[in-house]
Amino acid sequence: MNNTPVQDRPDQTQRTKKMLSNDPPPLAPIRTSQDWREAIVAKLIYGVGKNVVTANDRDWFVALALALRDRVVERWIASTNKIYERGHKRVYYLSLEFLIGRLMFDTLTNLGMVDVTRAALAELGVDLDRVRDAEPDAALGNGGLGRLAACFMESMATLAIPGYGYGIRYNNGLFKQAIDDGRQLEFPEDWLAVGNPWEFERPEVAYDIGFGGHVEAVRDEEGEVRHVWHPGEVVRAVAYDTPVVGWRGRHVNSLRLWSARAVDPLQLETFNAGDYVGALAQDVRAQSISRVLYPSDATAAGQELRLRQEYFFAAASLQDMLRRHITQFKDLRLLPDKVAIQLNDTHPSIAVAELMRLLVDEHGLEWAEAWEITKGTFSYTNHTLLPEALETWPVPLMERMLPRQMQIIYLINADHLEQVRMLGMGSDDKLAGLSLIDETHGRRVRMGTLAFIGSHRINGVSALHTDLMRETVFADLHKMFPERITNVTNGITFRRWLYEANPGLTRLLVEALGEHVCDDPAELVALRDLASDAGFRNRLIACRRNHKIILSKWVRDRMRIKLDPDAMFDIHVKRIHEYKRQLLNILETIALYDAIRARPSAGWVPRVKIFAGKAAASYHQAKLIIKLINDVAKVINSDPTVRGLLKVVFMPNFNVSLAEMIIPAADLSEQISTAGMEASGTGNMKFALNGALTIGTLDGANVEIRDHVGDDNIFIFGLTAAEVADRKRDGWRPHHSISASPALAEVIDAVWSGVFSPDDASRFHPLVHELRGDDRFLVTADFESYAQAQRRVDRLWGDQEAWWRASIMNTAGMAYFSSDRAIGDYARNIWRTTGLETT
Ligand SMILES: *Cc1c(COP(=O)(O)O)cnc(C)c1O
Repeated sequence: MNNTPVQDRPDQTQRTKKMLSNDPPPLAPIRTSQDWREAIVAKLIYGVGKNVVTANDRDWFVALALALRDRVVERWIASTNKIYERGHKRVYYLSLEFLIGRLMFDTLTNLGMVDVTRAALAELGVDLDRVRDAEPDAALGNGGLGRLAACFMESMATLAIPGYGYGIRYNNGLFKQAIDDGRQLEFPEDWLAVGNPWEFERPEVAYDIGFGGHVEAVRDEEGEVRHVWHPGEVVRAVAYDTPVVGWRGRHVNSLRLWSARAVDPLQLETFNAGDYVGALAQDVRAQSISRVLYPSDATAAGQELRLRQEYFFAAASLQDMLRRHITQFKDLRLLPDKVAIQLNDTHPSIAVAELMRLLVDEHGLEWAEAWEITKGTFSYTNHTLLPEALETWPVPLMERMLPRQMQIIYLINADHLEQVRMLGMGSDDKLAGLSLIDETHGRRVRMGTLAFIGSHRINGVSALHTDLMRETVFADLHKMFPERITNVTNGITFRRWLYEANPGLTRLLVEALGEHVCDDPAELVALRDLASDAGFRNRLIACRRNHKIILSKWVRDRMRIKLDPDAMFDIHVKRIHEYKRQLLNILETIALYDAIRARPSAGWVPRVKIFAGKAAASYHQAKLIIKLINDVAKVINSDPTVRGLLKVVFMPNFNVSLAEMIIPAADLSEQISTAGMEASGTGNMKFALNGALTIGTLDGANVEIRDHVGDDNIFIFGLTAAEVADRKRDGWRPHHSISASPALAEVIDAVWSGVFSPDDASRFHPLVHELRGDDRFLVTADFESYAQAQRRVDRLWGDQEAWWRASIMNTAGMAYFSSDRAIGDYARNIWRTTGLETT
């Protein structure tokens, strides 16, 4: 099998060098919309097989994507050649999720081709915005963690850091959400149903991935014992590459996603014997690995599939990068100098054991040297402190599925525990806590510990989260390795979340601050001088109103609910989870509803409450919260007493494209997680950048957002992380909070007695049980403080000049939250590399 992709093959490029330059010959330049129109029409005819009369929006999308891809490929090959020629260090970002969304506008924006494309299509009577909507949204992620990986890919390309994303090409990504009678329904996402014009299948880049079987210890001629793994099952990983274009098109990186298939897809003998289904069974089993994201882990079979996914993509990626490294540098001891591997959470952390296996078993390195190389190469990003989200795998499952990797984990653990003893930390309870094997819940492998000890740097994703990591989950490991934990606060790419999502605001910024603000967001601070400028304010107001009208049309067309664009748009969109406290928001909404009904003419601020987000398919409590929001919406939206004052909307199927439409329309951003539970948040950054004011707790990156936008320009409420920890330590009882707040008591009684579920009075009892029982997310403790903060919001809204001053101060203060800054931090402090020089 020739595993070397054409563009990586040095001897081939050497050979052709004499005839051509190393880089591909440039395509005819696009000078006018007419040139571009002709290129697109040629793709429509010869690439799609349609003509301009019969083409639909979808055909135009494919034609435009193919034409654009040609422009990208030139730069892509040039970038790849440059990385190779300079012998530059490569960064590999391993992530089970890449929530990339649509790519058309990313590409157009970064190549500076939005205007020429709009004009070219208009000459053909085609509307670019409809073509934009014809692109499926690649939902290869759940939420923030996957979106972070996508923002980081774009920033690595922008900073010309040779970065490769590695993940899985899920045929069906995260489920598509529909709302029926207020309940979430899940359908398979079929983003590939009509093909994917951005990707290149690389059938020649394929690796065999083993599972199961047994390990044989053999003695070589010198009497050394070597371990040979004989897998019981082999699955093939095939590469699909998508180019990732950086800002102004100066550098292009690759996202390589693996697809699984059987080594022998068709068992011909079985087929000829008449068993047509059985003949394909192996292929079906193999392909199930790259079918869906997060198979429900409610069943043992689901858990096993998840582990198969993790090993599958980690092992394929390692083989690929070692092959590339050896081809170019020959020497595996150079790995830490030439390769940095970032583990996005623990999902790929089996790679630590797999790299050890490849170095020791397959390449014959000494154990100690291999371990130094491994630690020098890996680093690990932690994304959660929630104990239930810290991955562990049952030892028997590991022994069965990955027998050699499990042996290696035991060896790593033996060395590690020896080091613990040498450091004098070897008391029994410390040893048990530090071990790679958790003996308290059956025997399980702690993947976070494996990632930690196999890495030279471990980072949290906000200042608060990193501090808590040092004090809680990794307290003992931090004592052992005080230099390892570092912070890199998350960021977002301004190209997608400002320039593409909000071109109106971008235009205003460029007019006010100059074109250069698009290259250096640090220049946003100059906006503070315009915070009280009436002319600038009025243009901002018009821009926001425009986005609120667009959002209102969406809601009217799809949900038949009429929104008033002059009301305050109060928005809470993210995965539905108890710690994110959508429940706190809807309970306060009910209290507000009661208060308005009691005194309808008390001068209320008209509000539209907008929710969106998916709940994990097996997370019953979260799904019940969706139902409650929808049942409350039904009552409120049909009550004439609050007409024009309060509306509640749950928008179905939250994804990147929906977020791009919603965020520029937001006046108020809800970031109200229980303090200490949201590692960073990135939704909070997107909203503040677009000028929404935040109502939030001192959690995750909210703390740093407050520091950057100023205390007066954010609504902070609720317990701090330290206070939450104190409450829990002292045996927290929600009873006191409920009886201290008559409004809250009344709301809980109403939900309990079926005011919002007259057809089934006990429907929401599980939610009320939680609130009156453990209230693990301290909803009742923060209720009063939250309600008071909302009234402060109302008062500021009443002074529109002050509101917009605060809004401008938010946008002005957000430069720090660019993912370019975050990637710069990773490059300097963790990967120890820089970007390529670009011209
Ligand atoms: C940014 C984003 C998220 C993360 O939102 P948080 O508020 O940080 O949880 C989730 N989903 C999508 C589609 C996003 O764009």
